[in-house]
Amino acid sequence: MSTTSRIAHIAIVVEKLDDALRFWRDALGLPLAHTEQNPAENVEIAFLPLGESEIELLQPTAPESGIGKFLARRGAGMHHLCLEVEDIEATMERLRAHDVELINETPRERPDGTRYAFIHPKSAFGVLVELYEAPRG
Ligand code: ZN
Repeated sequence: MSTTSRIAHIAIVVEKLDDALRFWRDALGLPLAHTEQNPAENVEIAFLPLGESEIELLQPTAPESGIGKFLARRGAGMHHLCLEVEDIEATMERLRAHDVELINETPRERPDGTRYAFIHPKSAFGVLVELYEAPRG
């Protein structure tokens, strides 16, 4: 039996990180842990820890990327909700058994070993949901 342990992060697409940080960091007072480039996804990300979770601000670095197209089509706003699970394969299996449509058929892996997959918003009542399994060990 697989469990969902926490909200890992909420990702928000923004036009400019600096502008968004004036709200999230300066006005609301959240700490900025770090920013990083993700060349594979054409995005620059600012990480703002909040309790056991994080707010991730995503600024596209290429207009033709997935995030770039999202911004052009819908404007700035919430992009996805990420839930940490203990066993991503077991979770995906369980979702398939409940006729939930997955965007990724198998988990993808980040350089740090984090494994992730997305659930289609059609199956999640309009919300893009990411599943995330922390590196083991
Ligand atoms: Zn995410």
